Amino acid sequence: MKELHDYLHNNRERFLEELYGLLRIPSVSAVTTHKADMIRAAEYWRDTLLAAGADKAELMPTAGNPVVYGEKIIDPSKPTILVYAHYDVMPPDPLDKWLSPPFEPQIRDGRIFARGADDDKGQGFMHAKAFEAMVKTDTLPCNVKFMIEGEEEIGSPSLAGFCRENTALLKADVIIISDTGMIAQDIPSITVGLRGLAYM
Ligand SMILES: [Zn+2]
Repeated sequence: MKELHDYLHNNRERFLEELYGLLRIPSVSAVTTHKADMIRAAEYWRDTLLAAGADKAELMPTAGNPVVYGEKIIDPSKPTILVYAHYDVMPPDPLDKWLSPPFEPQIRDGRIFARGADDDKGQGFMHAKAFEAMVKTDTLPCNVKFMIEGEEEIGSPSLAGFCRENTALLKADVIIISDTGMIAQDIPSITVGLRGLAYM
């Protein structure tokens, strides 16, 4: 455990710099002019997973923005967790309400301010870096798969089809959703229920 904590501690600044790199990409799924940014964000995620130690990571096409899929299978007989996150963000408007530019991360009062820092690049990155730390310290106890989509903020129109077409690839014992909050900064929280979208 100490080795793991040391790794996290010793690489903290690099982790932050890498997260800032992702936050600087304006991957706004609701605006078609950001199409190239969507691909850039997906490629950034792919490279992050590969550098973290995934056996493979790739952009998989959908009818809309690609899904980033990555995995590390240490032993097929061990349990597998599937981590879900999304690389798209909400539009930053109204811009005049921002105290700092939405795609230039700024730390204020110990918190990172940028569009997507909280939803959902920060949470997804936290799991990617926990994965990296366990891979690099040889403490990963299970198989891990990542499915990072790029259309969550527009209602995930391609995700159900993607899941149906890739049931074997996505097979897992547990799914972790990297898209929720914590009650407080020092209280790890497991969210057991969420509101959905209902269009009448
Ligand atoms: Zn989200």
